[in-house]
Amino acid sequence: MPPHPLNIRTPRVNLAPRFFPPPPRRELESSGAVDAVYVHVPFCTTKCHYCDFYSLAGHRHEAAAYLHVLRREARMQREYFGAPAPETIFVGGGTPTLLSPAHLASLLEILLDAVDTSRLSEFTVEANPNTFDRPRARALRAAGVNRISFGAQSFVPAELQMLQRDHHPSSVPAAVDTARAAGIARINVDLIFGIPGQTPATLDLSLRRTLALEPEHVSCYNLVYEPNTPLTAARFRGRIQPVPEALELALFEQVRNRLCEQGYYRYEISNYARPGGECRHNIHCWRGGAYLGWGPSAASHHSGFRWKNVASLARYRDALAAPAPRLPIVQMERLTGLARWGELAMLQLRLREGLDYARFAEKTGVDAWKILAPVRRKYEGLGVLADTPQSLVLTDAAVAVSDTILADVLAAFYNPVGRAG
Ligand code: SF4
Repeated sequence: MPPHPLNIRTPRVNLAPRFFPPPPRRELESSGAVDAVYVHVPFCTTKCHYCDFYSLAGHRHEAAAYLHVLRREARMQREYFGAPAPETIFVGGGTPTLLSPAHLASLLEILLDAVDTSRLSEFTVEANPNTFDRPRARALRAAGVNRISFGAQSFVPAELQMLQRDHHPSSVPAAVDTARAAGIARINVDLIFGIPGQTPATLDLSLRRTLALEPEHVSCYNLVYEPNTPLTAARFRGRIQPVPEALELALFEQVRNRLCEQGYYRYEISNYARPGGECRHNIHCWRGGAYLGWGPSAASHHSGFRWKNVASLARYRDALAAPAPRLPIVQMERLTGLARWGELAMLQLRLREGLDYARFAEKTGVDAWKILAPVRRKYEGLGVLADTPQSLVLTDAAVAVSDTILADVLAAFYNPVGRAG
């Protein structure tokens, strides 16, 4: 599945972890209402060869024990932070729909018991097409789920085989029909481009099959060779050839052109939606809002604090099932001053709406126009920035170099020279 904003990759923790306390209550900003909750379900049927998210293949039998401690974590968080009243909930993983319908119903009951649903407008669950059936669809709909994100990745069997995905392309339309028949209307389809062996013709096939499903949202990420994955090992042993950079760029342009012709617009570097079909959960994160994450490896963000749960189901369970339970937090970071606002600028620039200087100054008290002057000068005339006195936006031409530009943006905030304007 593609990277999720609430699911920051972390090296595996091998030593006995030290658990951090949550941020002190007195430091939590009253303006920092929690608008989003993420739950990480760490089970998969098999491990896809490109994936470095925390998930376990062959551990579904541990689902009941996982749910037991997830309930405890949700309650502890509720006691500490108060009941969040999120506008969005996202259940990801892993493969949430690998849970049995009864376990899925329990998970949703735990969640809904721990939050105030009065503001809830978007409730997403990630699904693998081959683990999605009518009983699961009904259990999700009964709990109020109104959006499903299907990990299709490609409609070409050889490409799915390259990624070691365990589903067949034909399972995707069947899963989408099942969701709609259960009354879940909002559908996202995840695709990947840049798969070894992929050509414009095979990508065209995947795009046509995706568009035929009429999803309101399509995420299309380029394949990333993450460290310590089988795919990366195969690359370094010369067993697979990554697609050349020029082809990767052409494939990105093909995705953008094809989707935009069909009424989608690119509202984030890798995300397309029909107007009104944007993923509000992810937008909230890209705008720097507060969110809480539950489950092993889940990340949270509140009042400039960022923290992350231990990426180990066993240690997550040990922390929460102990006689004196602890929240399973193993990373805690506090961003202050310009470092915090640099992160915010970087996140906002991922979005098509870009960085609005007046709104940014209102939220942060910082003049981003001045701070970003060196970045604006560096890229002037290259067609990658739409630079006006009101806002800064990355253009379509910037996508291929967006990582470099965003790193420069962050550096401008960290480096006081950037203030010289
Ligand atoms: S299904 Fe998703 S989370 Fe599970 S191994 Fe594959 S990519 Fe990773």
